[in-house]
Amino acid sequence: MEKGPKLYEGKAKILYETENPDLVIQYFKDDATAFNNQKRGTIINKGIVNNKVSTALFRKVEEAGVKTHLVERLNDREMLVKRLEILPLEVIVRNLVAGTMARRYGLEEGILLKQPVIEFSYKNDALGDPLITIAHVLALGWATKEEIDLLIDATEKVNATLTKFFDEKGFILVDFKLEFGRHKGEILLGDEICQDTMRLWEKETLKKMDKDRFRRDLGGVEDAYNEMCAIVCGTE
Ligand code: 5GP
Repeated sequence: MEKGPKLYEGKAKILYETENPDLVIQYFKDDATAFNNQKRGTIINKGIVNNKVSTALFRKVEEAGVKTHLVERLNDREMLVKRLEILPLEVIVRNLVAGTMARRYGLEEGILLKQPVIEFSYKNDALGDPLITIAHVLALGWATKEEIDLLIDATEKVNATLTKFFDEKGFILVDFKLEFGRHKGEILLGDEICQDTMRLWEKETLKKMDKDRFRRDLGGVEDAYNEMCAIVCGTE
């Protein structure tokens, strides 16, 4: 499948049209940003790693009954996906307290939550992706009740599947972010699932194996991305 004109360029990915109006190519860049674009950098070969990891994790959640936009990984940096009308929401799942939740409520990172929390943010860089309630989403007509129910059910399945998968590999899935969209009237999981969008801690040492190494200048960023890629995808 050949790349057509550029459709959209984001912080970590570029979308290209294809000859099929229902399909687009998602190109994974090495660019890394954090804190709403205030910190910028490059993580060498991040695009290649994130494309591989996302493909493997999308396949895993598909097996658990979650429909995703993945069609196939085309090459190192390109994934063929179904075209989505993306909902303007970030769906965040938290199993342990970390990041924004720790800051917002003045809590220590690492507290195990009694039950997972699913929260929604309005995807808007200029506003800093503010927290939004389901009542707001429904009142604004950004999604229907049926779509929200479906999306929560899919999110719970993703959390159960990936928490178990990473636990068996020796890692804690602390939190992650999902994005969903509509394709021919159906809600599909879109975007990516990788170390840019998840917090993963090594169980024994609590070593951070994700983008927090870049956000917090912890060093060993590429090594952590490569190590998790080998664990998730096997060493091809
Ligand atoms: P927090 O809200 O604590 O910053 O993030 C919670 C989880 O969602 C983390 O795993 C983080 O990587 C992911 N996340 C939240 N917002 C974004 C975002 O705008 N971009 C990316 N790549 N991940 C996000």
